[in-house]
Amino acid sequence: MSQSLATVAYLGAAILFILSLGGLSNPETSRRGNLFGMVGMALAVLATVFGPRVSPAGVAWIVGALVIGGGIGLYAAKVVKMTQMPELVALMHSLVGLAACLVGFASYVDTSIKLQGAEKIIHEVEIYVGILIGAITFSGSLIAFGKLNGKIGGKPLLLPGRHWLNLAALLIVIWFGREFLRAETVEQGMVPLMVMTVIALLFGIHMVMAIGGADMPVVVSMLNSYSGWAAAATGFMLSNDLLIVTGALVGSSGAILSYIMCNAMNRNFISVIAGGFGSGAGTPAKKGEAAEPQGEAVPVSSAETAELLRDAKSVIIVPGYGMAVAQAQHTVYEITKTLREKGVDVRFAIHPVAGRMPGHMNVLLAEAKVPYDIVMEMDEINDDFPAADVAMVIGANDIVNPSALDDPSSPIAGMPVLEVWKAKTSIVMKRSMASGYAGVDNPLFYKDNNRMLFGDAKKMLDEVLTALKS
Ligand code: NDP
Repeated sequence: MSQSLATVAYLGAAILFILSLGGLSNPETSRRGNLFGMVGMALAVLATVFGPRVSPAGVAWIVGALVIGGGIGLYAAKVVKMTQMPELVALMHSLVGLAACLVGFASYVDTSIKLQGAEKIIHEVEIYVGILIGAITFSGSLIAFGKLNGKIGGKPLLLPGRHWLNLAALLIVIWFGREFLRAETVEQGMVPLMVMTVIALLFGIHMVMAIGGADMPVVVSMLNSYSGWAAAATGFMLSNDLLIVTGALVGSSGAILSYIMCNAMNRNFISVIAGGFGSGAGTPAKKGEAAEPQGEAVPVSSAETAELLRDAKSVIIVPGYGMAVAQAQHTVYEITKTLREKGVDVRFAIHPVAGRMPGHMNVLLAEAKVPYDIVMEMDEINDDFPAADVAMVIGANDIVNPSALDDPSSPIAGMPVLEVWKAKTSIVMKRSMASGYAGVDNPLFYKDNNRMLFGDAKKMLDEVLTALKS
């Protein structure tokens, strides 16, 4: 493939990636967006493998790597459960970071690159910055992976003087950067490069460890953004324009998502990154631990739930992480259809951080074929709870916790939540009184107009559906 054909293919791929991002911004066009992305990526890979910069001998290596990597990716995508998706994404981000580091070291020791003067300095800055971002992304994403799958506790690790530690790390990285640029030989440059890599790895670990449970969504989207910048840095090191463009697209869209997440949680981006948010003055319960009783929680049966739903004119369903665990989305939609046939107005309320990844609930509801026009964002529906007869909470906890609004000492204080307790009756469907991801007690369970339907969401909803149909 000639250079000009490869350039045209890269341009086409870049346009397809932009169209893909545009498509993904709306559920109705998201399939098309995905398709654009897939075609763009296929085009990019083909143009790179068969492009002018890869020798025929290199093609065999690349195809071998593609088969192995693609095989592992295909297997992982097939076996991963929907609830493990966020962890898989975090793991993928870590691989982008690792790739940036490896490419950085490889570029530095590559003796075939002979540059002088300003060009040499620019190339070395690209390597240094690329490895820096890559190492932070790599270790940070691994910790996020551990936090998302529960292997690492959600409580923030707050080292004494952590801000000073971060500042010291930054200054050391700058100083070693100067040493790196002044190095005469690869051997001399290797020492500052290695020291910086170790510091960046430790910084990535520290940064994510310091972030409290409820603030993890921001970290997830931030690492997504970092992985984009790491890819862009790799593009600079390899002088690959498409990788620069693609990385910048991922980096900037991830940054916008982080900003949206921060707004949704009423958090200051810098404070989240600096860590310690989500620790609060309160003492969050250990994840999954039962909340301290603060009154009496009133249990209901599935038959009583069906009755409440049948008698309602307006129902708002609030799905959360537990719906994903139970895979109850299809039954939820069956219930929705049955109620709508009976003339009940049913809508869904989606909190921006429900579940474990951005858009988690939207994906599940789309999979169950719930029409998009009854799926509302928090801002669109929060004022409608007082007019609703029943608010049915399916495996959600933190996102419907009133203490976020009225307890300033709560670790989730200030985070906007879905105000389900304002409905005539709220029904919370979960297996126990355990707390959610942030490990915070939920006073909703003890409110007079709240009922608890205990059990696995899928099992209970099946029973409710049977009762509704009988
Ligand atoms: P939560 O984690 O707060 O609560 C989920 C509830 O579901 C639990 O209390 C659990 O209670 C219940 N549950 C679990 N399994 C089942 C089941 N099989 N059947 C019925 N119930 C079940 O989830 P939310 O969606 O309310 O809030 C999301 C939380 O995750 C927020 O704190 C958010 O910050 C955080 N987060 C979000 C991310 C995102 O990008 N969206 C990323 C990372 C973190 P029980 O055990 O009693 O059944």
